[in-house]
Amino acid sequence: MNQLKIQKFVSNVLIENGYVLYNDVHALVIDPGNVYNDIVSFLKQNKLKVLGVLLTHGHFDHCLSCKHFQDDGIAIYIHKYDSDKLYTDGNLSKMLNIDFPVFYADYLLEEGFFEIGEFKVEVIHTPGHSRGSVCYVIDDYFFSGDTFFKDGVGRTDFYDSSFIDLRNSLMKLTPYFKKPYIFCYGH
Ligand SMILES: [Zn+2]
Ligand SMILES: [Zn+2]
Repeated sequence: MNQLKIQKFVSNVLIENGYVLYNDVHALVIDPGNVYNDIVSFLKQNKLKVLGVLLTHGHFDHCLSCKHFQDDGIAIYIHKYDSDKLYTDGNLSKMLNIDFPVFYADYLLEEGFFEIGEFKVEVIHTPGHSRGSVCYVIDDYFFSGDTFFKDGVGRTDFYDSSFIDLRNSLMKLTPYFKKPYIFCYGH
């Protein structure tokens, strides 16, 4: 078995957490924020090839550097209901006057399972913080994005947020909270 390891990278924009999940040769990047350079040097140091960038949702603080990864030939994945945020004001970058390099996702996800190389990814659609928010389960790791944090939940006061949806999403996640996942939060 090729045990997976994880490395966290904290963006200085809204203290967003990006992650590199990796085995001996391959890696997935989750929510890279604006720490492209740090992530790329980590990948080089460890001789890792990135197979894809997974986004938990389309808010700018999670995906500011995605265009750079895409320019490097790496595919970007996001739920279909948040994909328009990547090229519209829906990513909320205008709220903080932040320059956002727009891009189009390569793969639009729905709830379910799929594989990227040897990584088996479960997509759980968890609307509430945004309409197309998802959580990812990969091996022992659970990526919550902004759906929930260690001590709270994501904001539900944005244009496509819904507190009721978020509550329903958390109810849906209840079975996952009973398992010993390593939880990786968006903030
Ligand atoms: Zn968000
Ligand atoms: Zn966020």
